Amino acid sequence: MRKNIVAGNWKMNKRFDEADELVSGIMDLLEKQELPQNTLMILCPPFPYLEMCTDYSNDSYFAIGAQNVNDNDRGAYTGEVSAEMLNSMEVEYCIVGHSERRAYYGETDAIVARKVDQLIKNDIRPIVCCGEVLEEREGNKQFEVVRRQITDGLFHLSAEQFANIVIAYEPVWAIGTGKTATPAQAQEMHAFIRGLIADKYGKEVAEATSILYGGSCKPTNAKELFANPDVDGGLIGGASLQAEDFVNIAMAF
Ligand code: PEP
Repeated sequence: MRKNIVAGNWKMNKRFDEADELVSGIMDLLEKQELPQNTLMILCPPFPYLEMCTDYSNDSYFAIGAQNVNDNDRGAYTGEVSAEMLNSMEVEYCIVGHSERRAYYGETDAIVARKVDQLIKNDIRPIVCCGEVLEEREGNKQFEVVRRQITDGLFHLSAEQFANIVIAYEPVWAIGTGKTATPAQAQEMHAFIRGLIADKYGKEVAEATSILYGGSCKPTNAKELFANPDVDGGLIGGASLQAEDFVNIAMAF
């Protein structure tokens, strides 16, 4: 059975002491209330806080993910972080192809594909983001865009490699805007993505792939989004910066 996942993308937020407080707040809440069965929580802090978070995660309440990785093995890439480094720090997941990286740092589908390869080579599971911008949705181009992102970013993988992939559908018009996709819009796109995977790798692989929704997901709308058969959880931005909100979202399955 595929996992339900709630992953918190902290982006470039919080001082170290605030980040420490957030993780210990999440731990306190999870000590009082267990996560629903088959639910995995992932925290994706900024690079400098990974070690603090992996230290906490030894108590196994959650797994740790990075927000980015370089697409080269190692070498003279000042300021960059490799998949090998992340692996050596017990990081288990990494976000790739987030719309902010696509928009501000030129992350193309070809770069996404190379980052995915680096992660898989280093036993880290990629959380691969896809999603259309507002004009594309208004022009009814959302399926074409997502098909291209998934095909060009992921479909070079073997079925065995693809089994490591988590997908996050994040309509860009819903990220940080307070505007959420309706449960029907989310379900429609998630079913489309699962169909693409089934056509390429077969039904078994498609059924085993967790597909998360991202875009202004909050404790107040998580339940109706997660109730859809093809929505296997969420990639959470703003609401993951507050322990109670984030844990409440994880309790929404
Ligand atoms: C995100 O950036 O991945 C995201 C979903 O952000 P928010 O929840 O703040 O819309």
